[in-house]
Parts: sequence; structure tokens; C-alpha cells
Amino acid sequence: MTNTLEERLKGIIRATGPMDVATYMQLCLTDPEDGYYTTKEPFGGEGDFITAPEVSQLFGEMIGIWVIDIWQKMGKPQPFCLAEAGPGRGTLMADILRTLEKAAPDCAKAVDVTLIEVSDRLRALQRQTLAPNGRDASWIGDVSELSNQPAILIANEFLDALPIHQYQYRDGAWHERAIGLDENDDLTWGLKPASPMIPRALAPEQDAVFELCPAGQTAIASICDTMKRHDGAALIIDYGHLEPGLGDTFQAVKDHAYYDPLVAPGEADLTAHVDFSALARIVESNGLAAHMSTQGAFLIAMGLLERAGALGQGRSPEIQSRITTDVERLAAPDKMGDLFKVMSITAKGVDPHGF
Ligand code: SAH
Repeated sequence: MTNTLEERLKGIIRATGPMDVATYMQLCLTDPEDGYYTTKEPFGGEGDFITAPEVSQLFGEMIGIWVIDIWQKMGKPQPFCLAEAGPGRGTLMADILRTLEKAAPDCAKAVDVTLIEVSDRLRALQRQTLAPNGRDASWIGDVSELSNQPAILIANEFLDALPIHQYQYRDGAWHERAIGLDENDDLTWGLKPASPMIPRALAPEQDAVFELCPAGQTAIASICDTMKRHDGAALIIDYGHLEPGLGDTFQAVKDHAYYDPLVAPGEADLTAHVDFSALARIVESNGLAAHMSTQGAFLIAMGLLERAGALGQGRSPEIQSRITTDVERLAAPDKMGDLFKVMSITAKGVDPHGF
């Protein structure tokens, strides 16, 4: 069965030829009528996937402690913009704010919350999540619209949702991977001419794939620009790699399982791994510092185990065992601990906690 987005995609391909992955990804995820994030409920057991803040409040608490530390190192600006890109249900921001209120009320008082979100449906959900905290927030659609304030920006699983281009090496030349139509009028993979800028150190074999995320690079450049003009810091968490590399990481997930990215467009989450090395180069070319680590090492350096112990103190064995499972899920190397990476962006000479 074809859905309306699939029909529209096919119409565009018939009219203009094979579609690059970035255009496909953007329409599938954020199309106002039929996009995944604009119309579906992706999160939690009932949805398609579970993110770290939805696993446990411990994740947001560790990020909250990072925010307090960096705010102090920035000289305690008041007010400051606490921004989150791609806040999903708003769980992470709620956990961060609760941590600020408990551990550093002066910091909590100085916060102006800004959420960067494309989906009106998710904006409404975020408003609901933050309401019990008695928090106002403002919403913007893009990081380039950040206000003229010192800013601390958080982004968890945001960059992996931004559209990528894929290039494939075949018979001695690079081509762009594109989506066309086969003889049955179904979506299918193909190649079209391209001349991408591929890092020279990567020696490709036949059919090797290189991925480029211009939207992610633009977002980081824009964050750096805000930080240079008004001071600030950022913490970016996502799955990806710290070294440049080759490989096809474009994937679809639906009902907690991998799915064919060309089947039922708009009904599955589409992501690609984040190339942190490319982002760190942008940070450094802006005269700022990038620190990188794995999620597991970062959370443990932030005090995850100590906080988990305190949270479990005097609780029932069931609760204690749930806390242990959650900690493993967030930090164990074979769970999210190694696959997910963390990158901070700060002024040079600042020593961010956790790295
Ligand atoms: N950070 C959340 C949700 C991650 S899902 C968590 O950890 O649970 C990705 C989020 O980014 C969603 O809120 C989605 O609507 C938003 N998003 C996706 N593409 C976007 C874009 N181009 N601009 C702004 N937000 C976007």
C-alpha cells in the first residue's frame, strides 16, 4: 500500500529525476503534512525508539550538572539562554531544570529556556512537559534564530535527524546516491553524477560510501557564531564516530526494529551517524575548543555511578535493580556507552567537566 507522502515523492522523482538522500530524508522527517516528526509519536515503549533521557532521569541530571559547571566557568551570566535543539518530548529539559533548581538555584533563576523544534505537535508536547515546572519557554525553528544572550545549548539525538548526502565510489569515481523508480514504479537506489569533496586520507574501495551532513555543519557553524558574539557553550550528544570514516549509516527504525528506509516513507525514523570529526574541525576553525568523549566515559566522569547509588539508597530491591539496568543501558560499552559520543564546544582555555 502506498501512502500520500510516497505518492508525492514519486511525483517529484517523475518530474525532476532521482532525488538525493538529503531531500528524501528532509521530506520524510519534517514535511509539514506527512513528516515523521510532524505527525507521528516516535518516543517510548509504544513508539519507535527510546532515547537516553527517556531511559532515566539520571541522564538529564548529569547534563544539568554539566550546565551548572559551565555556567559558573562562564562567570555566571544573568540572564542566559538555556537552549535545546530537538527536545522531543521535553523530558531532558525538564530533568535539567529540576537539577538546576535543586543544586544551583541562582543558575536556575538566570535561565531563559529556548527550544529549537520544527514540529508544532512536539512543541505542544514540550509545553505540557515543562508546565508543571512553572516554566515559560520560547520556541524557534532553527539555531540561527538564537537570541543575543550568552547561551548554553544542549542537543541529544538532534544532529542524527538532519539530512545527509551519500556518495558512492564506483569504477574509480564518486557518484551521489539517489532515489529513483524501478520498472514496478517502486522507490529504488541509484547513482547520479557528482563531484563531492572527500577527505583525501580516505582510500575508498569499490562501492564505499561517504556521508556528508551540510545541515549539521551549518547548525554547528551557527552555534559557534552565537557563542563567539555573546559567549556560550554547547554539549552535543549523538551516535556517531570521532574519526573521519567511510560507511553507509543511513537507517530507518520503526517499532524498535530496523526497517527499509525506502518503504513507507514518513512512517519510520530516518537517521545517520554523526561525523564528529567534521564538526570539531568547524569548531576549531572558529577559534573555539571541541572536547570529545564517549557517552559512557562522559557520564561516569560526571558522577553517574555516585548519583545512581544515592538514588537507590533505601529503595526497594526492584527499584534498585531498575536503576542498575538503566545505568548499564546508558553507559555500558555494549549498550549506549560506546556508540554514543559527546562533544562540548567552549571558548579556548575553558576546562569543561566530564572530559
Ligand atoms: N532530544 C530528544 C529527541 C530526539 S528526536 C530526546 O533525546 O529524546 C529528534 C528531535 O529533533 C525531535 O524533537 C524532532 O522533531 C527534532 N527535529 C528534527 N529535525 C529537526 C530540524 N531540522 N530542526 C529542528 N528540530 C528538528
